[in-house]
Amino acid sequence: MRITRANLKLLARSRVDILLAKSIETAKEDLNLAKRQARLSRQICLKYNLRLLYGEKQLFCRKCKKFIVPGVTSRVRIGHSPKAIRITCLECGHTYRKLYKNKNKKSK
Ligand SMILES: [Zn+2]
Repeated sequence: MRITRANLKLLARSRVDILLAKSIETAKEDLNLAKRQARLSRQICLKYNLRLLYGEKQLFCRKCKKFIVPGVTSRVRIGHSPKAIRITCLECGHTYRKLYKNKNKKSK
């Protein structure tokens, strides 16, 4: 296989997938290892200009960019007054919201 820019990107993408999957697995047993794996995957993304998928993006805090796992290093709650999912990073305390709409409600 010739080493081209496209091939390098494919290789980097597969490494990022492996690292993120492993980091979610190891988060409950060894948090430091999981953080290191997540940081490496983020660095690979930055170097090769890769975009994280929506689900993968949720694993990093928007403010401090650290690895957050729901139930381990982040808190996820459902809010009512604006209907939203509130995600709190337990590393820096930053809270952000994902608004959602009720699809069953009749629209006028
Ligand atoms: Zn944070």
